[in-house]
Amino acid sequence: MRTEISTLGEFGLIAHLTEGIKLENESSKYGIGDDAAVLSYPSEKQILVTTDLLMEGVHFDLTYVPLKHLGYKSAIVNFSDIYAMNGIPRQITISLALSKRFCVEDIEDFYAGVRLACQQYHVDIVGGDTSSSLTGLAISITCIGEADKDKVVYRSGAKETDLICVSGDLGAAYMGLQLLEREKTVLKGEKDIQPDFSGKEYLLERQLKPEARKDIIEKLAAANIIPSSMMDISDGLSSELLHICKQSNTGCRVYEEHIPIDYQTAVMAEEFNMNLTTCAMNGGEDYELLFTIPIADHEKASQIEGIRFIGHITKPELGYALITRDGKEFELKAQGWNSLKEKE
Ligand SMILES: [Mg+2]
Repeated sequence: MRTEISTLGEFGLIAHLTEGIKLENESSKYGIGDDAAVLSYPSEKQILVTTDLLMEGVHFDLTYVPLKHLGYKSAIVNFSDIYAMNGIPRQITISLALSKRFCVEDIEDFYAGVRLACQQYHVDIVGGDTSSSLTGLAISITCIGEADKDKVVYRSGAKETDLICVSGDLGAAYMGLQLLEREKTVLKGEKDIQPDFSGKEYLLERQLKPEARKDIIEKLAAANIIPSSMMDISDGLSSELLHICKQSNTGCRVYEEHIPIDYQTAVMAEEFNMNLTTCAMNGGEDYELLFTIPIADHEKASQIEGIRFIGHITKPELGYALITRDGKEFELKAQGWNSLKEKE
């Protein structure tokens, strides 16, 4: 079924997509339906705002990303940034520019993904806009969240001797992307062959349907731990760690053997003949949390499932060191996943 967007018109389309949306959060005073949404936050809160622009062909490839997944992921990456400030996401606005290639059903799929993410993370959709585009799809999402005034965590707070922690495991989303890219090349022109992803589901899930680490933020709060610095890992561990060190004016020492990597990631790296540590350090799109805690919180933090200690913060003069399994020392460099891709 293909319903042209013009049959609904812009207002009809928005009304259709946002039908049945109920506001869950107290701070969402008024959502869609007027010139602006109205938010009301208590004065003891800090309000966090983050925004993200995703362009077809640059940030996503619709030949292998289903629109529902894209909607889900677009929302999740914004939630992740709010959690990375030790906050709670509460509202989002979604703006889309669509070329003629897209029909009402496509946008329904995209919105279904966004709405699912919002339901699962208790975030309200309070506004948005749609426009036509000459080529492709552009997605702009803004997310608003809150944090207690004294609990916002910045990138700049890391102190010498603090422990460096990472949630979950790294490199799987990047491996999922490699896998999808490979199947796309293999399948070009060969309509009868179905891609074989068995045993690699985790990698695909990490790439196509990532989650934000709400659970870690809640566990840290329950354990009474306020990280000294924090950010989410979207461009790769190396790059994010350098952001923390530079903004905190510190150095760091990270141990290769402690970097958390899933078994499927390791198998895939071998299949692709890629260096596993490089993938985990620079892969990107993991949406895990990277944070530092005072050494005094080590005991409490080690009780929390899903956190790994990968090293510690040092004096700035000591630089950014990666210690390999065989005890060699290298300088950490930010490759980022984009440049990693270009080299291939
Ligand atoms: Mg971030």
